[in-house]
Amino acid sequence: MRTSVVIGNWKMNGDRVANIKLLDRLEKELSVQNNCAVVVCPPFPFLSQVAGWLLSQKINIGAQNVSAHNYGAHTGEVCGQMLTELGCSYVLLGHSERRADNYESDTEIAAKFAAAIETGLTPVLCVGETLDQKNAGLTQSVVTGQITSVIEQLGISVFNKAIIAYEPVWAIGTGETATPEQAQAVHLAIRTLIRSYDNILADKIAILYGGSVKASNAKALFSQIDIDGALVGGAALDADQFISICNAA
Ligand code: PGA
Repeated sequence: MRTSVVIGNWKMNGDRVANIKLLDRLEKELSVQNNCAVVVCPPFPFLSQVAGWLLSQKINIGAQNVSAHNYGAHTGEVCGQMLTELGCSYVLLGHSERRADNYESDTEIAAKFAAAIETGLTPVLCVGETLDQKNAGLTQSVVTGQITSVIEQLGISVFNKAIIAYEPVWAIGTGETATPEQAQAVHLAIRTLIRSYDNILADKIAILYGGSVKASNAKALFSQIDIDGALVGGAALDADQFISICNAA
C-alpha cells in the first residue's frame, strides 16, 4: 500500500502572525496517521519561522523552489543545502505558475530536480496541461512529455525518491476541479508510463492531484485507486479546509 501525501502550497501568501495562527491549529488538530505524510510549503522568508514552530515533527516542511546550483555567485537564488539546513525535506518543482511566470523549461526543471536529489530533498514534480491543450486532446502527451524530459536527462531511478503531482492548469485556483474519473485517467496514464520503465517503482511512487482541492471534493478524489493525495493551494491557507483534506487522505 502506498503512503498518502498531502502538501499545502502556500504560494506567495502568509505573514508572521497568520502563519502562527494556521500552524498552531494544524499542530493541535491534525491527527496524522502513519500512512499519510503532511507537508507545508511556505514562502522562503518564513521557512525558519515555520521550522521553529513545528516542533512535533508530524508536519514536514517543503520549499516552493530550489536553485539548480549549489552555493556561489547566483544572486537571488536559494540552494538545496540551505533548504535542508532550515529543515526542509521536500521541494515543489515545475509548478505551472513557475513554468508560466518564470519561463521554467523542462531542461531547467530537470536540473533543479537533480540538485534536489543531490541535497537530500524529495522533489515534487508538477505536471499538467493548459485548457487549450486539454481542449485539443493533448493532456496525456503534455504530461508524458513533462515527465519523460526528466527521465531522459536524469534516468528513471531518481523517481525512487520523488513524487509526481498532476495539476491541470485549468483547475488551479479556478474552483474548477477535474472530476475524480478525469483525474484517475491521467494518474493511471502516469503510472503506466512509469511502469514502462520500472514495474516496482510504478507501484510505489506517490502521484498527487492538485487543482482546486477542497474539503468537499477530497474524499471522492482520494477514493480513486491511482490518486495518492493532493497538492493543495488556496485551501491550504484555511485550517478547517486543510485539516479535513488531510483527514480524508
Ligand atoms: P489551488 O492550487 O488548490 O488553489 O487550485 C493548487 C496548486 O497550485 O498547487
